[in-house]
Amino acid sequence: MENNGYRLPRYARPRRYELELRPDLGSATFDGTENVLVDVLETTDRLVLNAVDLVVSHVELATPGGEVLRPEVRPDPSEQQLTLVFPKPLAPGDSHRLTLEFSGRLSDHLRGFYRSTYRDESGGERVIATTQFESTDARRAFPCWDEPDFKATFQVTIVCDPELAAFSNAPVESRHPRDDGRVEVRFAETIAMSTYLVAFVVGPFEATEPVVAAGVPVRVVATPAKLRLASFAVEVAAHAIDFLAGYFGIPYPGTKLDHVAVPDFSFGAMENLGCVVYRENLLLVDPETAAQTELQRIATVVAHETAHMWFGDLVTMRWWNGIWLNEAFATFMELTTADAYRPEWQVWTAFGAGKSAAMVTDALRSTRPVEYPVGRPEEAEAMFDVLTYQKGGSVLRMMEQYLGADTFRKGISHYLATHAYGNTETSDLWDALESVSGEPVGSIMESWIHQGGYPVVSVERGDSPAAVVLSQRRFVYDGRSSAERWAVPVNLRASVGGEVHRERVLLGDPLDTVTFPGPVDWVVVNDGAWGFYRTRYSPELWQALRDAGPAGVLDPLERLGLVSDAWAAVVSADGDLGDWADVAATVAADADPDVWGAVLGALGLLHLISADPDPRGAEGGAADRGALEGFAHRLAAPVWERLGWDPPPGEDERTAVGRGRVLLALGEIASDRAVAAEATRRVRLHLADSRAGVLAPDVVGPAAQVAVAAGDAGIWEELLDAYRRSDKPQDKLRYLYSLAHTPDPGLRLRTLELSVGEEVRAQDAPFLVAAVLSRPGQAQAWRWLESRWEDLSSRLPTNLVLRVVEAVTAFVDAGLATEVHRFCETHDTGITELRLAQILERMDLNVAVASRLRGTLSGSLG
Ligand SMILES: [Zn+2]
Repeated sequence: MENNGYRLPRYARPRRYELELRPDLGSATFDGTENVLVDVLETTDRLVLNAVDLVVSHVELATPGGEVLRPEVRPDPSEQQLTLVFPKPLAPGDSHRLTLEFSGRLSDHLRGFYRSTYRDESGGERVIATTQFESTDARRAFPCWDEPDFKATFQVTIVCDPELAAFSNAPVESRHPRDDGRVEVRFAETIAMSTYLVAFVVGPFEATEPVVAAGVPVRVVATPAKLRLASFAVEVAAHAIDFLAGYFGIPYPGTKLDHVAVPDFSFGAMENLGCVVYRENLLLVDPETAAQTELQRIATVVAHETAHMWFGDLVTMRWWNGIWLNEAFATFMELTTADAYRPEWQVWTAFGAGKSAAMVTDALRSTRPVEYPVGRPEEAEAMFDVLTYQKGGSVLRMMEQYLGADTFRKGISHYLATHAYGNTETSDLWDALESVSGEPVGSIMESWIHQGGYPVVSVERGDSPAAVVLSQRRFVYDGRSSAERWAVPVNLRASVGGEVHRERVLLGDPLDTVTFPGPVDWVVVNDGAWGFYRTRYSPELWQALRDAGPAGVLDPLERLGLVSDAWAAVVSADGDLGDWADVAATVAADADPDVWGAVLGALGLLHLISADPDPRGAEGGAADRGALEGFAHRLAAPVWERLGWDPPPGEDERTAVGRGRVLLALGEIASDRAVAAEATRRVRLHLADSRAGVLAPDVVGPAAQVAVAAGDAGIWEELLDAYRRSDKPQDKLRYLYSLAHTPDPGLRLRTLELSVGEEVRAQDAPFLVAAVLSRPGQAQAWRWLESRWEDLSSRLPTNLVLRVVEAVTAFVDAGLATEVHRFCETHDTGITELRLAQILERMDLNVAVASRLRGTLSGSLG
C-alpha cells in the first residue's frame, strides 16, 4: 500500500482508456477528457497515477455500484504523480470508472505531445502535433499509469481542424464533423499495451494507398509534397511485416501498420504499435539517387521498428532494466530481416562497424554490464547506447550462431507465444531458448550480460602440430589485469593438410587446447567473426595466416575484425603502429566497404594527430603528415586505379559503397590533389544537374567532403546553397554535413553557426557540430561550443546534447582535454554520470594515444 517513491502502487490497475484529445495547433495547446476503467485489487482510499505539466480541472470516479465520488487531487510534480484521495475507501472490484478533464501545452522539446513545423511548397508555415512517449512522457499528454507493465487497451479520439489528418495506433473507425466546426476522428480500440507505445499524429499529412502484407494494410504517411518519396519505404515495410510474421510464426498483433515521417524527431524512429514515427531521412527517399548505405539504413530501421511490434509491443519488458533486450533483439532482427530482403548487401558485415564501436566503449574501465538494475526510469536512459544496441545485438547473434539459426528462431517464437500481451524478465527469453535447445543458454549469457567488458582470446600452437591452445583474459585499454572470465563460444576454422576443418568449443576456463585431425597449416579463431571478443594470434600463427593470403582465406567481416583488433592493440599500447599498418595493407587490397570503414577510422585519428599543432615543432608535424599521406596513398591508390570514378554497368552495390570510402582515403587523408580537383569538378557538375551522371549516388557525399576539405571556398558556398534548395532528405544531409570538412577557420565558424540558426533543424544540429568537432580545427570548434553552449543546448533534448558532447572523444590535444574536463565539471549537460565518464575516458585515451604516436608516424608508416 506504500507509495514507493517514483514507482506506482500495485493495488489498482487500469484496464481500458477511452481518451479524447483536442489539440489546437495554432495556440500550441490541447485539452482532453479520459475515462479509465480501473480494477481495484485491494481496499484503498486513493489512486496514484502519473501526470506532468498537465492542469487537471475535474476528476470523478463512478464505482461499480453506481456511486459517484469526487476525490481531492494532490499533484506531486517532483515525482510526476497525481494522487487522488477519495472521501471513502474504494472496495476491491472491477471496472471503477475514473473520469478526468485536463489541459496542457504542446511542447517545443520533441517529447510528450509536441509541436513541429515545416514550410509547404508555397512557403507557408504548417504546424504538426505529434508524440514521442518512450520512456516516460505519455504522462505529459494524459494522466496515466505510465509504467510498462500497466498494460491496457486504448480507444483514442482526436478532435482537430477539418483539413487535418489524424493517425493513432488503431485504424479510424469514424470521422464526424462537430458543431464547433472541428472534426472528431475516432479510432478503434487497441490491444492491451503499455502507455509508452501510444501515439497520435495530427497535421496536413497524406498516406499512400494501403498495401496488404501478411494480411495487414501497410501505409507510409508524410507531408503532401514528400509522399512521392515513399515507394521504397512501402516496399521494405511490406517485406518486413511479411518476413517477420513468418519468422515468429505469430500474426501481426495489430490491425493496420502506418509508418509516419515527421519533420522534427529527436530519435531515429519510435515503435508505437501500428503507428511508427520516423525522421524523414529514415523513411523517405528517392531510390534512384540514394546511396546504397542510405537505402540500407531505411530498410534496417523499418525492419527494426516492425520487429518491435512483436518484441516490445506484444511482449514487453516488465521494467526499464529490460529495455536493453528490447533494443538488442530489434537490432538483431533488423539485420536478419534486411539480410533476407537483400542478401547482396551483406548487412551482417556492415554491422561489423557497429560491433567494433561497441567493443571500443566496452574496453573502457567505465563500461557497464549490458543489463543493470534500474531504479528511477531516467536511469534507463543511459541504456540507449552502443552497449545495448550493438553489443546486445552482437551477443544475440553469437548465441544464434552457436545454437543454430532454426533452433534460435523456434526459441523466440516459443517465448513470444508464451508471453503474448504480457510482460517479461530477461530470464524468460533464456528459459525459452533453453527449452527448445537443451543448451545452458542462461549460464552462457550470464557473463556477457551481467558483467561489463569482453575477452581477448589468444591462440598459439600446442605441444603437437595438430593442437592449438586458446586462452582468455579481459581486454581493457589500460592493460590492467582482471580476473573476469566469459563463457566464450569459439568457432575455429583451420587448414589441415590443405583441407578446411572446423571445430567448436565453449571456452569457459582461462586455457583450453583444441586438437585437429592433423597438422594445422593456419587457423582462424573467430570463424565468421560473429563472436564478441578480440583475437590475438601468436607471431607464428599470424605469419601462417598472412602467408595464406588473408584476402583469399578470410571473409570481409573476418578481415574487418583483424584490422580492428590490430588497432585496439595500438590503442592499448600492446601492439605497435607498424603492425597495424602491415595488417591494414594486407586486408584492404580490395574495395570492401566495411574493411575500408575500419581502416578509415584509424586513418582519421592519425590524420587528426598529424594535423594538430605539434609540440615538437612544425617540422615534426610535417614529417607525420607526409608519412600518413604516403601510407594512405600506397593503400588507396592501387584500389582507386581499378575502381575509377564511374561504376561499370552491373557493378555490385558493395563495391559502389567501397568506392566512396577509398575516395575519402585518397582525397582527404592522402591529400591527392588531382583526385580532389576532380572531385570538385564533378561535384560542381552534379550540383548543376544531378541527372548528368557524373557522380554515382554512393560517391556524392564522399566527393563533396573531399572537395570541401581541399579548401575551395566556392564549393562550400555552392554546397550550402544546395542544402537550402534540396528537398530530398538524404541530399540535404549529405550537403549539410560535407560543410564540416572545411579547413578554413572562417567557414568552420559559419558551419558551426548554422547549428544555432533557423536553417538547420534541432534534430540535425548536433550531428553537424559533432562532425566539425571530430575534424582538424578542434580547438576553434571547442571554443565556439563553449561560447554558444546555451544557445545550442537549449534547442536540444538531452539525447541530442549527448551527440554533441560525445564528439570530444575525437580530441587529440591534452590542453583541450583539460578544458573539456573543466567544462563538464561546471556545466549541467543532463548526460548521465556513467555516459559522461565513458566519454571523458575515451577522450583521455585518445589524447594518450596521440601523444604516444605524435612524431613517430614516419618510422611506423614509412
Ligand atoms: Zn528499437
